Amino acid sequence: MSTAVLDQSPVTPPTGPKPLTEGPQSPGILVALWGFVVIPFLALIAAVPVAWGGWLGWTDVAIAVPFYLVAGLGITVGFHRYFTHGSFKAKRWLRITLAVAGSLAIEGNITQWVADHRRHHAFSDVEGDPHSPWRFGTSVWGLTKGLFYAHVGWLFHRELSNRERFAPDLLADRDISRIDRLFPAIVIFTALAPAVAGGLLTWSWQGALTAFFWAGLVRIALLHHVTWSINSVCHVYGERPFEVRQGDKASNFWPLAIISFGESWHNLHHADPTSARHGVLRGQIDISARTIWVFEKLGWAYNVRWPKTDRIAAKLVKPGSST
Ligand SMILES: [Zn+2]
Ligand SMILES: [Zn+2]
Repeated sequence: MSTAVLDQSPVTPPTGPKPLTEGPQSPGILVALWGFVVIPFLALIAAVPVAWGGWLGWTDVAIAVPFYLVAGLGITVGFHRYFTHGSFKAKRWLRITLAVAGSLAIEGNITQWVADHRRHHAFSDVEGDPHSPWRFGTSVWGLTKGLFYAHVGWLFHRELSNRERFAPDLLADRDISRIDRLFPAIVIFTALAPAVAGGLLTWSWQGALTAFFWAGLVRIALLHHVTWSINSVCHVYGERPFEVRQGDKASNFWPLAIISFGESWHNLHHADPTSARHGVLRGQIDISARTIWVFEKLGWAYNVRWPKTDRIAAKLVKPGSST
């Protein structure tokens, strides 16, 4: 008979969750971000004074700005805060107008857009997220690939999100189905209407051509990249003042606040997705929230889910918490 003594000494497996961070991000990540986001925008800005003399005129700007505003707010107020998250209720004519306005951005038809985005919220930065920049891991190369994938690459590789699972409300809506079917016509309109406007306003072919370039192509591209930056940059870089689900990396990235109409306050958005306002902290300008506020004052929107002070305070990261 022997008394077997259990060896309890050396290898105790680590218990508890692994730390959430591995220290500050490396210079490689920063270089990727600059190359990916800032430099193309600087190039675009630099192109404006160069082109002003001959190729960009006030007529082009006067056409491009309203198109950017209407299509952009159609995405942020319409597709995103209203249709995806139900952060307010709208009269029928406003609902239809927002659906058409967002379609002018050429980011896909509304039902698919909403299905993709609801899936993104259901699986933020974990398996199942259609566009997480963390898909290829946390190494510099993985994150560089991931940023590209989240920004635009996913559009070329995706399997379409199931609309019956993620957007049954829109599939059942006859107005919305009609606008989905009209999407190809809306695409042709949004691409060519600026050229027609430029041609008529200047009564010249050159006016039509420059308006097509600036108010058509450049405006569409700029809005695309701003929207996509919310999926890429705003899941990697910026502040995270609010508690979000485990694994969710949504962040507030202030440089994009104005041009994205408040959508880059993305950390709060993931912490409280149905809130009509994303920029809830002091100084956080949110043009989409202001637009919804105007709609409410005019009586076009109602039951708006404005953020409540105590609810916001409860969601702030507690001092000393590891996130
Ligand atoms: Zn997100
Ligand atoms: Zn959202």
